[in-house]
This record gives sequence, C-alpha cells and structure tokens, in this order.
Amino acid sequence: MSATLLMGKPIADKINEQIKKDLFEIKEKYDIVPSLVSVLVGSDLASKSYSGRQKKSADAIGIKYELHELPEDTNEEDLLKFISQLNDDPQVNGIIIQLPLPKGIDEHKIQSAIAMKKDVEGITPANMGLIVYERPKLCPCTALSAVKLIESVGADIFGKNLTVVGRSAIVGKPVALLMLQRKFSSTVTVCHTGTAKAGTLPYHVSNADVLVVAAGSPELIKGDWIKEGAIVVDVGFNVINGKTVGDVEFEIAKEKASYITPVPGGVGPLTVSILLQNTVEATKWQLEDKTI
Ligand code: NAD
Repeated sequence: MSATLLMGKPIADKINEQIKKDLFEIKEKYDIVPSLVSVLVGSDLASKSYSGRQKKSADAIGIKYELHELPEDTNEEDLLKFISQLNDDPQVNGIIIQLPLPKGIDEHKIQSAIAMKKDVEGITPANMGLIVYERPKLCPCTALSAVKLIESVGADIFGKNLTVVGRSAIVGKPVALLMLQRKFSSTVTVCHTGTAKAGTLPYHVSNADVLVVAAGSPELIKGDWIKEGAIVVDVGFNVINGKTVGDVEFEIAKEKASYITPVPGGVGPLTVSILLQNTVEATKWQLEDKTI
C-alpha cells in the first residue's frame, strides 16, 4: 500500500494562524511589531533569493523584515561589530546571518556572537545547549520542522527506533537531541559518513520506525531499505538535471512507508513558518525575561 504524503503546508498554515494571534497579543500588550534583521555579506545569489522569500513571508504575516547588505570585503572584526550593534538595538528582535560568508570569515565565530534571545535560527551554542538540557527555547528551523512533521502523524513513537542520517549542527544533531527528549523518548541512532563507510547504513535504516534523512546526497537511501510502515522525513534537497530530488528513493520508499514527505513539499514549506514563529518566541523572551 502506498504511504500517506506528509505535507508541510497544512502544518505551516496552522503555525501561521498561531503567529498572527501572538502578534496581535504582543501589539496589544507592548505596542510592538517584532522585527527581523537579515545580514548578507557579499552577493551570493541563492542567499539573496532566499532572503527575498523570507521577506515576502514576514511581510505577509506582519513581521518587519530588513535586509542589510554588507560589501564582499567586510572583514570578521567589522561583521562582529555590526552584530554587536544589532544585539544592543532594542528595535531588533531577531538576527539572521545568511550563509555562506565570504572566505576568511569564521562562520561559527559569527553565529556564536548573536545574542541568544535574538537567535531566531537557533544556531548559537547557548540555544543548542538548552536542547541538551531539555529546555529548548529557539531551535534550528529545519530540525524543528522535521520534528513537527513527525509529531503531526500522531503515532505512538515512545521508545521506538528513530534513525537520523546526517550529523550536521543545524539539522541532524538537533533532530536527534529533540527526539531524545523525554516527551518523545525515541531510541535514537545517528548515522553519518562513517556509518556509510562501515557499510551499516542499510541495517540502521531498516531498523527505523521513524527515519529522518538530512545527508544532502540524492537518493542515498534506497527504497527497499525502509522498514514496512515506517514514518519517513526526507530533509534532503538536491537539484539533478533541473529536477528536485530528496535523499530517499521516493518511488520505492513510498510503497513501504506508512507516511513519507515528498521533496519538494514536505520539510521546505515549514521552515520559513518556524523562522517566523521563532521570531515571535524571541520577542516574547526579550520582553518577558530581562535577566540576560
Ligand atoms: P551537511 O552537508 O552539513 O551535513 C550532511 C550530513 O550528512 C553530514 O553530517 C554527513 O556525515 C552526512 N552524510 C553525507 N553523505 C553521507 C552518506 N553518503 N552516508 C551517510 N551520511 C552522509 O548538510 P545539512 O546542512 O545538514 O543539510 C542536509 C540536506 O538537507 C541538504 O540536502 C540540504 O540541502 C537539506 N536542507 C534542506 C532544508 C529545507 O528547508 N528543506 C534546510 C536545510 C538543509
């Protein structure tokens, strides 16, 4: 039997409704419209277009969005100074650093400089650490999107095997940590290039009641590895000969899975909504807790 498609849009629509209610309350209570600042260094076309899509979504929902374009030759020190100004500016509630940054700038150093309460992409060590302590505040948008998709199925996953393929700091690792939280209590396995080298990727995938793949390798996961009835979330986004494909061999996998995200249409449509939700959460955090 063919799997049910797990689409991102209906979940995004619900999140957007909640954001609108929250924005109304913030306006009523504090007379504030949350604002998001995106920093783009240089002229990366993909970042520019991504930023444009973020702005369109922010405008549509009623969050201010401002793009700051800095010249290609901006150095690390200047960028750190700029971030520090944004951190101190009470008119700014959320900060996004568009990647990639030009050569010579340490991405991790730059991302770590964002104030934790303005870190709407959930990428600072402080916000990552809160996930480890099961007190998540602002989580990486794509990782949280994958978790929301799993939750939306409403299946009993307590103690069940969840395999994550990919160990990046913004997707694989935070998905694993979020799903380890006691409220989900999945039994988590994380696979990576070492697993592939060891030849045990099919084994770990075939054990997964829930599978999340974020490897960035087209159709890496063969359809016949999938466990019968598994929930499959494919984060991968690869363009091959003008066609977008995920990291999972979709056509075969969908005959074995009970739920599967299509690519595109699964994780993608959710991530901007999560970013905007994080902006609302960040604003509330700044307004309600002045301690840090
Ligand atoms: P990344 O390159 O930082 O990390 C990929 C991870 O996958 C690495 O940890 C690596 O160990 C693992 N990996 C790579 N090849 C592998 C293999 N052959 N076998 C086993 N493990 C392997 O990538 P990322 O930033 O985590 O993104 C992963 C994918 O998700 C990419 O396709 C990216 O485009 C996509 N993505 C989509 C969205 C979205 O909104 N839809 C957002 C972010 C990332």
